[in-house]
This record gives sequence, C-alpha cells and structure tokens, in this order.
Amino acid sequence: MDIGGAEKSIEQGFRLSELRKRISSPEDWMRKRWETNIVDGFSRLDNIKIGNPKIEKLKDYAKNLDEKFEYLNKPVGLTAQQAELLMSKIPKEDRDAGFDATILSLRKETNYLDELEEVGISAALLTGLENGKYKAFVLFLAPDSIFTKGMKKKGVMACYFSILDTVVVPQKAPTSEEMWLMLATEGRLPEFVSSLDHELTHDLQWSKGQRAIMLGLSTSQQVSYFSLLQKYGLLVALSVSSAIGILSRRLARKLDNDEMLAEIHAYEASASSPSAMDNPTDKFQIAGHVIHEYELKSRIIEDALRAYDSIHLLRIMGLKDKKLGELVTRARFDEDTRTFPRLEQALIERKNDWGIINDEDFEKVTKALLAQHDMELRFQRHRAQEVATRELRRETGKWFD
Ligand SMILES: [Zn+2]
Repeated sequence: MDIGGAEKSIEQGFRLSELRKRISSPEDWMRKRWETNIVDGFSRLDNIKIGNPKIEKLKDYAKNLDEKFEYLNKPVGLTAQQAELLMSKIPKEDRDAGFDATILSLRKETNYLDELEEVGISAALLTGLENGKYKAFVLFLAPDSIFTKGMKKKGVMACYFSILDTVVVPQKAPTSEEMWLMLATEGRLPEFVSSLDHELTHDLQWSKGQRAIMLGLSTSQQVSYFSLLQKYGLLVALSVSSAIGILSRRLARKLDNDEMLAEIHAYEASASSPSAMDNPTDKFQIAGHVIHEYELKSRIIEDALRAYDSIHLLRIMGLKDKKLGELVTRARFDEDTRTFPRLEQALIERKNDWGIINDEDFEKVTKALLAQHDMELRFQRHRAQEVATRELRRETGKWFD
C-alpha cells in the first residue's frame, strides 16, 4: 500500500489514526492492511459518471464493505480437534449424507461453488467425485497401474488428453469426510479439487472439430475416449493419444491451442475458486510456473503475465469459463504486440458492455473489480466454513441432543 492510497481511503470514512490504535499484533496489522487495500480499490468509483447498471451494482457493493469486514473478523469455523471430535460422533454411514447437506446448503446460500459449477465438480461433490458426470471422461487409475507410478514420479496430480477428451487421475478422490473437515476448519477443499478443476477447464478449450481433425476423422464421426478404448484398449488408447499428440504438434500446429494461454487460463480458473488449495495461486506464481514448467522457449514472463491479465480481466468483467475456453480455442499469439488479438478484441467488447469509453474509467472499474474478486474469495471461504460448521453441529445434534 502506498501513502497516497491510504490518504484516499480516509475519504471513505476509514481513519488511519484510529486504525493504528486498534492494531495489536502482526496478524492484525496484515488484516488491516488488506482491508485498507480493498477500500482503496473502490475509492475512485464515485468519480465515474457512467450510468451503467453494472457500475451501479459495483458502487452498491462498495457501500457494504464494513459489514463484510466485520463478518470476516468473526471466527465461524472449528479447530481440527473440535471438528474431528464432532465428526467422531456421527455414525460412519451417515457422514456422506451430512456432507451432501453441507454441499446443498453451500449451493443454495452462497456463491462458494460457482467456479466449480460449469465443469461439473459442484454436482459431483454430491455423487462422490469418482462418480461425477463431467463433460470430459475422467479416469481414476488404480494405485498400482504403471501410469499411476509414472505420473506420481513426475509429481503430476492429473493430466488432460485433449484428443481423447479424457482426464487421467492417478489417485483416489478425497472422501466426503475429509472434505467436510477441511471446509469446517479452513473453508477450503483438497488440492485434488483444484487439479480436477484445472484439467476440466482444459476440456472447455477444445472444439469437437479440432479433436476430429487431429484424430484424422471427419467431424461427423463420434470422437470419444470410449470408442478408442472399446476398439483398442486403454494402453493403446493412451499411447495413440500421445503419438497423435506429438504428430499433431508437428504437423497440425495450426489446429492446436496455444499452450501458454491454455495453461494460464486453466491455472487462473482454478485459482479463482474460493475453495482453491491451488499452488500456484497468484499471477506471478502462475506466470512463472507456466513459463518454466512447460519449457516455452519463445515466451517470456511478461507474455504470460499479460495473458493472465487479459483472461482475469475478462473473468471479473463477467465472462464464464465456457466462453473463456472458446476464446482460448486456437487463439494466436501476435509476435509484434506480444498479445492475443482475440482476447484484446473480447476486452473491447466487455468495455462496451460496461459503457466504458476511456482508459481512466477502465482503470477505476478494474481496480474495483479486482478488489471485489479478492474480497469475495475470502468472504465465500468464510461463509463455507460457517455453513460446514453449522451442518457438522446439526448432524451431531441429531445423535447426541
Ligand atoms: Zn494444464
């Protein structure tokens, strides 16, 4: 936070001198600093003279910040010990039903699971992640499979095979009990969920036509993991996919998605969920990770950061992952401007939608939207903790009241 930002926030009724008196510990100081940054994010919205309903909504959001800060400062969850004690009182066979009630409440009362809705994870939490109905085929490998060992050795939590439209997961999904405990104690879901969200986001980046052409099929033919699996079996299906993958990268580069952009989008998507235990989580970590781990030799970190900013701005201005995936589909990197013109175009359309005509207003609005996004991540996580705790207490009460 710079001094200018702090001074501005005084206009918002946030008194720095009073604040200093109230600060007692480093955590307290960090929290206050975060609050000041959030307030600062909204501080220039009032100068905007556009009469757009979206901007009005944002201004309204800014009016209730104090209420949200107050709620965030109130402990609502449990310690691990407390949560485990409560869980131990619920008969094992009733734990799935209790967790389902928690998920249903989260879907009804909060926006906590919104990011996981489009990829089918939100619904799958009710059926068990291993039985979810996803758009892509999700294959959970047996622990002793050679693929499991190979993937684990490389530290891969899950992998998406675009041509087969298949996500391969070399591990067991977390149980309802594990997820429920984590929600009540941390307001998060296991890293497994972030990984699955990441891989299923890749699925949204591919068109049917792309897959068909890469497999050498006509677009009218059914392209699915099942058809290959039935015909050739798993080993062949997987090795065919990697062989075609290599071939397609060499011969059909024009059809492929841009790897940097696809990865930036997938990481940005999973990190945008309040449930995320994702690593990396912020834009510098994500950009650095994508450039280094994927050996993108022709790209530099600034390219990845710019791609992240475009995707993230489009998201906070209202685009969902399906639409973002369509934009990523075959988007091309322009070497001269070092941008993706298709994303730049989409940003112009979003600006029009918000009634923004100059850069200054755009900066004010995006600053506020970033603050809102940051606030919502914490707010929804807190709500999730509260709901999971309430349901855990209620379920326990059923047996021991
Ligand atoms: Zn990926």
